[in-house]
Amino acid sequence: MSDSTTVHDIVVVGAGYAGIYTTIHAAQAGLDVIGLEAGADIGGTWYWNRFPGARCDVESIDYSYSFDKDLQRQWRWSERYATQPEILRYLSHVADRHDVRRHYRFSQRVSQARWDEDAQVWTVRTEQGLETSARWLVMASGCLSTPILPDLPGRESFAGDVYQTAAWPHEHPDFTGKRVAVIGSGASAVQSVPIFAESAAEVVVYQRTANYSVPAFNRPLTDEDWRAAQEDYDHRRELSWNGLAGSPWTSHPVPYDEVPEEEREAIFEEAWLRGGVLFAKAFQGLTARQEINDAAREFFERKLAEIVEDPQTLADLTPHGYAIGTKRICTDSGYYRSFNLPHVSLVNLRRDPIVEVGPSGIRTESGLREFDVIVYATGFDAMTGALTHIDIHGRDGILLRDAWAEGAVNYLGIGVPGFPNLLTLNSAGSPSVLSNMALTSEQQGDYALRLIAHCAAQGFTSAEVRADAAQAWIEHGAEVASGSLFSKTDSWYSGANIAGKARGFLPYIGGFRPYIDRVDRIADEGYTGFVLSTRTAVPA
Ligand code: NAP
Repeated sequence: MSDSTTVHDIVVVGAGYAGIYTTIHAAQAGLDVIGLEAGADIGGTWYWNRFPGARCDVESIDYSYSFDKDLQRQWRWSERYATQPEILRYLSHVADRHDVRRHYRFSQRVSQARWDEDAQVWTVRTEQGLETSARWLVMASGCLSTPILPDLPGRESFAGDVYQTAAWPHEHPDFTGKRVAVIGSGASAVQSVPIFAESAAEVVVYQRTANYSVPAFNRPLTDEDWRAAQEDYDHRRELSWNGLAGSPWTSHPVPYDEVPEEEREAIFEEAWLRGGVLFAKAFQGLTARQEINDAAREFFERKLAEIVEDPQTLADLTPHGYAIGTKRICTDSGYYRSFNLPHVSLVNLRRDPIVEVGPSGIRTESGLREFDVIVYATGFDAMTGALTHIDIHGRDGILLRDAWAEGAVNYLGIGVPGFPNLLTLNSAGSPSVLSNMALTSEQQGDYALRLIAHCAAQGFTSAEVRADAAQAWIEHGAEVASGSLFSKTDSWYSGANIAGKARGFLPYIGGFRPYIDRVDRIADEGYTGFVLSTRTAVPA
C-alpha cells in the first residue's frame, strides 16, 4: 500500500506535542506534510500512558503550547497539574483547531526508513504496510515512548491479568477486591499506586531502587487563579523561554553559602510546598554541589519520616546512594501515605529479590505471594529507543542502530552524521526531558522547519551533519554533565536502566536558553556543522 502522493516535502513520525506542532507549522508554511502515528489518534505519550493517576509533573499553564495566544486564553485548565485525560482533550482540541488530523495516517507504526542518495528522498514503511516518501524525515517519536518489560524468569507464565502502565487499556480494568502486584517504583508507579489502593484488596509494590518523591500539592485552579495566570501569562512565558528548564520557576536568589543556616530550612520548606520536581530548585547548585544536595536530602528524609509510620517500610522507602534530583523527582499525590494502609505493602528487592514469576504470583527469596493482577511500571528505552527500534538506513545503507551501538551520535539533538535530511526532535543532545517538553517541542519544530526553509531557499537538496561536529557536541554535552551530580547517578538519562545499552548522559544539561542561543547562532551562521549540498540529477 502506497499513499497517493509520490514524494512529500516532509514525513513527520509521531503525533505528540512535537509532531503536532511541527505538522501544523509545516502545513502553514505551505509544505506538503504527511504524519504517521502508531496510536489510533493524536497524543503521543498521553495517548498510551492512560494509567490511573497519570498526570503531568509540569504545571498545566506551562505544559501547553505558547504559539497560539487565543488558544492560551481560551483553553481553561482545571487543575494545577493536569491529568492525562485532560491533556489528551487539550491536544485533541489543538488538533481540531488547527485541522492537523487530516495530515496524519493513524494506527501506522513505522518499522523502516531508507534514504535514497540518488533521489535525495526518504522512503518510510510501516508495520501495517503503508509506504510513503518525502524529502525530509522528521522524527518526533518521543523520549519515553518505547516501554520495556523486565526479564523476569517465568514472566509469561502468570495466569492472572497483566498490565503495563505505558500501554494501559482504554477501558480501565476494575481492581475492586483484587490482589495487585506493582513492579517498579518510578513516577508511573508512584502516581498509580494510591489509586490502585482505593479499590484493590491488596497492593504490593516491588521496589528495586527507592525514588525521591515530593507531593504535588495539586489543586483545582480557581477563577481567581485563572485570572491571575492570564494577566501574568506573557511574563510567565518570557521567564520560561529564558530559563534553564522551560518553566518560570527559579532557585532562591541568594546562594546557599550566603543564607544563614537557621534560614535554610524555611527555603527548603517553601520549595517543598511548590511541589514535585520544583523542590530541586530550592537552591542554585542543588544538583551540582554535594553539600547543598545533602542538606536537601536530609530535609526530604525528615519529611518522609513524618509520613511513613512503619519503621522498616520507612527505611526501605528511603533512597540511598544517589543525589536527590539527579533522577527526575517523582510528583505524587499520597504515594508514601498509601503504605500506612493495612492492605498496601512494600517488598524491597535489594533484600528480597524476585526468584521467578509463576502462574499464581511472584516468588521472592522469602517465598511466594499470590496475585490476581501484575502491573509493570518498569520504564522505557528512553531517549534513543524510539529511533533504534526502527530500521533507519542512512547513506550507504548504514543502520542508525549500528551507528549508535557505542552511544547516540547526534549534533544539537537534531541531526545524525550519515543520515541526511533526518531531523530528530527532542533527541539525545537536546534539553528535552530536562525541560518543559511543550516548549522544547516548539523550539525543536521551529528549528527543523527553519533548516528546511533555508535549504529550499538556497536550492540545497540535502543537509547532513558532519561527524566532527557531532563528536564535538557530544564532548561538550559530556563536559557540561560532568559538572553536575546527574553524571554520578545511574538512571534512564544515561541508559543505565537497560542492560547492554551504551552509557552516556543523553539529554543536554546546559539549560534550555543557553541551548537555544547556541543552536540559533549555528543557524544564523549558515548551519555550521552541517554540510548543505545539492545533488544534481543522476542520469537514468
Ligand atoms: P522509571 O522511572 O524508569 O521506573 C521504572 C521502575 O521499574 C524503576 O523503579 C525500576 O527500578 C523498575 N524496574 C525496572 N526493571 C525492573 C526489574 N527487572 N525488576 C524490578 N524493578 C524493575 O519509569 P517510569 O516510572 O515509567 O517513569 C519514567 C519517566 O517518565 C519519569 O522519570 C518521568 O520523566 C516520566 N513520567 C512522568 C510522570 C509524571 O509525573 N508526569 C509519570 C510517569 C512517567 P530501578 O530504578 O532499580 O531500575
